[in-house]
Amino acid sequence: MQNLFQNTEVAYDLKKTSQIRKSIFLFSLITKRFLVKILSAVTLFFLKLGFPIKWLLKATIYEQFCGGVSITECSDIIKRMKKKNVFSILDYSIESLQNEKDFDNAFEKKLTIIKLSKENDMPFSVFKPTSLGSYKLFKKKSSKKNLNDKEKSNWFNIEKRFDRIFEYAKKMKVKILVDAEEYEVQNAIDELVLKMMKKYNGGSEAYIYNTVQLYRWDRINYLKKLIRDRGDFRLGFKLVRGAYMEKERQLAKENDYQSPICKSKHDTDNNFNKALRFLFSNIKGVDIFVASHNEESNYLVLEMMDKYSLKNDSNNIWFCQLYGMGDNITFNLSQKGYNVAKILPFGPVKNLVPYLVRRAQENSSVGGQTNRELKYLKKELIRRNS
Ligand SMILES: Cc1cc2nc3c(=O)[nH]c(=O)nc-3n(C[C@H](O)[C@H](O)[C@H](O)COP(=O)(O)OP(=O)(O)OC[C@H]3O[C@@H](n4cnc5c(N)ncnc54)[C@H](O)[C@@H]3O)c2cc1C
Repeated sequence: MQNLFQNTEVAYDLKKTSQIRKSIFLFSLITKRFLVKILSAVTLFFLKLGFPIKWLLKATIYEQFCGGVSITECSDIIKRMKKKNVFSILDYSIESLQNEKDFDNAFEKKLTIIKLSKENDMPFSVFKPTSLGSYKLFKKKSSKKNLNDKEKSNWFNIEKRFDRIFEYAKKMKVKILVDAEEYEVQNAIDELVLKMMKKYNGGSEAYIYNTVQLYRWDRINYLKKLIRDRGDFRLGFKLVRGAYMEKERQLAKENDYQSPICKSKHDTDNNFNKALRFLFSNIKGVDIFVASHNEESNYLVLEMMDKYSLKNDSNNIWFCQLYGMGDNITFNLSQKGYNVAKILPFGPVKNLVPYLVRRAQENSSVGGQTNRELKYLKKELIRRNS
């Protein structure tokens, strides 16, 4: 299995040669860190001033990482990936939300997406907790400070929105992934999602997965505590390394607390793999959703599945990559019958700019990520031309 992810013919079967050339051009651009910095700033500035650059974004970076403006625009991609046994997970991006009315609208949108997911045979839906309530309130709740009456009432609304989403999702048999966010809001998210797992994760499969960021050095102890205190319900975990490293380090410095992030990439990788081993050793009560583009970690999952005699299509183990990245992992796994999905962001170009900037920055700052994508894309181009 140690060379499974090398097969580029399988990885890019859905891509035309012209698309591969375009991806190579794009990834070559975003390896240049200074260029990403300048382009991100210029793009945000132009958009703020209302310059008509959306078409340019849409034809380039948006097309690489997003499905389309609407679900109808995404439907071709969804169908084509499904033919390869890769499920799409629709991720609708909403602009910065301010008040209770905005959060109610976002909540309604989530319900619609769950319904559409059910109708289109998509087993998962995803949401970002702070799209259902104010970031400030999640932060205050996480700090354990007392809430005033208005905040208590707004927190009650957040709990209600969470509860109704999970209740509806379970009724529709769609599983929910709850995204992880910044350290300063994560405590409140963890506690609330755990409460919901207790309520909805009975039975042989988890319906709710909380996200665990393994770039945080405290997360192994957190997982151990959850497993030790676990009641009569399944724990669902989506494992990621974590997307806010630079911001977290900055926040810790500014507010004078110990950074929650591992000291090095090597430490993060060890933490991630340690978490995998630990969860597999408790697999009887746990469902694992591996969200990573890291080959070594994905190979480790295959090794663990083998060790614990889990079938490739065991309902308790899922793999997932972001649309536009890690195709060599996604499509080679799906071809071997593993459960695989892609997060498919969609929505108006303007709403997705922060997501695209994150993807560009991640690809330019994380050693190896873009080189990985480029290496496989170039290999496939050579294979097709020879
Ligand atoms: C399906 C999916 C869902 C996701 N959902 C979330 C989410 O809900 N919340 C979230 O925060 N992120 C999420 N992410 C992003 C994820 O956290 C990572 O940023 C991204 O996937 C890159 O990590 P990797 O495992 O793919 O592998 P790699 O490319 O091998 O690892 C890169 C990661 O390693 C860590 N790292 C890099 N350098 C250092 C360093 N010097 N010191 C310490 N650590 C370092 C960082 O976390 C960096 O992102 C998601 C990713 C996927 C694929």
